[in-house]
Amino acid sequence: MSLRIEPLVGARVRGLSEYAPEPLEVVARRLGLPAERLIKLDANENPYGPTPRALAALQGYADYHRYPDAVSRDLRAALGEYLGVDPATIVVGNGSDELIDLLLKTFRPEGPGGLCSLIDCPPTFGMYRFYATTNDLPVEDVPRRADFSVDVEALEALCACDPRPRLLFLASPNNPDGQLLPAEDLERVLDLPVVLVLDEAYVDFSAASRVRLVAERENLIVLRTFSKWAGLAGLRVGYGVFPAALMPALCRLKSPYNVNVAAQVAALATLEDLAVVCERATCLVAERERLVAAVRQVPGLRVFPSDANFYLLDAREVGVERLRGAMEARGIILRYHAGPGLDGHVRVTVGTPEENDAVLEVLRALGGRPS
Ligand SMILES: *Cc1c(COP(=O)(O)O)cnc(C)c1O
Repeated sequence: MSLRIEPLVGARVRGLSEYAPEPLEVVARRLGLPAERLIKLDANENPYGPTPRALAALQGYADYHRYPDAVSRDLRAALGEYLGVDPATIVVGNGSDELIDLLLKTFRPEGPGGLCSLIDCPPTFGMYRFYATTNDLPVEDVPRRADFSVDVEALEALCACDPRPRLLFLASPNNPDGQLLPAEDLERVLDLPVVLVLDEAYVDFSAASRVRLVAERENLIVLRTFSKWAGLAGLRVGYGVFPAALMPALCRLKSPYNVNVAAQVAALATLEDLAVVCERATCLVAERERLVAAVRQVPGLRVFPSDANFYLLDAREVGVERLRGAMEARGIILRYHAGPGLDGHVRVTVGTPEENDAVLEVLRALGGRPS
């Protein structure tokens, strides 16, 4: 048998690059530090982890040998109550990433009359473009302005010149800058011939969710997640609220056992432990405000206002390689961005007060101020 299989892989797949961030132990080895010394602030994870009730529920659960509820009924009922929306309009996914993929599959064009493209507004979360590519939907870029706000005029101009329907993804707060989409911009975008997917992965760190608007606007979808707010990133559980008209299609297309039992059990217990999650989120928000104010005083650094559990630094003036060297010597892992509009920018997750103090100390030393 001399069949060579590699040439059979489609060109679309060859054009992709692998996403494989280093696990903590590998980073520790590279930096020559013990893993416990590392301060991991590169992935917007919640430093406090799952709530006590979520941990207890995982330990107390006895039926891991049974398949999960394929449509997460109990979790959707609890989410409906938490959000004030109809549970029949909620889909739970293996992280909100899976729901981004599910949407792209749902709207995958199959001839005339379908979507003509996905509009991406970079700099933003990379998964919109990734799943558009893997699902054969062309991507049109409408870059954000220099201050990372959405260029609504450019979106309007694009739709005026070619009014075919498009899918538009907007993260609010946006990753990597942390800025919310203003209400006026949301209204203008919803008047365009687009299906708007508002990705609210970080909205629990602000007070501005638009999730209740979904019932009123047929072209609005809102995605949320337990990864950042609830400390469950490793269990992969996200959800979306969708227009009722889209639900039958999503239910037919979704993978049957997409959300595992551990994820369902932990997410449900988290919603029964809301006081704890909200208190932790309040601490992270207070820390964010403390940090942004402190960093603003450091010469040579620019910090962008954020409504999320991270903040973006423009470190071009102090030198991003210098900053990286100083951070890594202390075992602090951050997210170093590159590319149009983001060269020399660093995204810092808000951690515990002690972790944040370590970051501040390094930044102040770089800016030439004694800490
Ligand atoms: C982290 C992140 C997600 C992914 O969340 P999961 O539920 O963990 O898949 C979605 N959108 C944005 C903007 C994010 O930063």
